Amino acid sequence: MAFNQCESCQEKISQKQRWASAFFSYRPIVCQECGASHHIEPRSRIKGSMFVVFFPLFLAIFLTSGGEGRPYELILTYLPLALLGMLYTVHTVNYRMMNDGEKEGGRR
Ligand SMILES: [Zn+2]
Repeated sequence: MAFNQCESCQEKISQKQRWASAFFSYRPIVCQECGASHHIEPRSRIKGSMFVVFFPLFLAIFLTSGGEGRPYELILTYLPLALLGMLYTVHTVNYRMMNDGEKEGGRR
């Protein structure tokens, strides 16, 4: 099931917040009510890059024969496909609330 509310206070997480997160390579979603931060699950992140980057890119390369001499064609084909992939992943990826101890980038 898709992530749609804060694990801590049950505040609803808006569609807009999920899209904003997806656009910034799945940055953590911070609850506007209690400030709890939710990180995307590693499995969902992999799924996200598959559907937003790899599949659309391969399909676009295939459809335009590598965009030979016309790279804009490749890009114009890729973008709508990537958007579709993003539409799909935004609705299916999962986030998990993280305690301070397990925050990403905490280790050096
Ligand atoms: Zn909350």
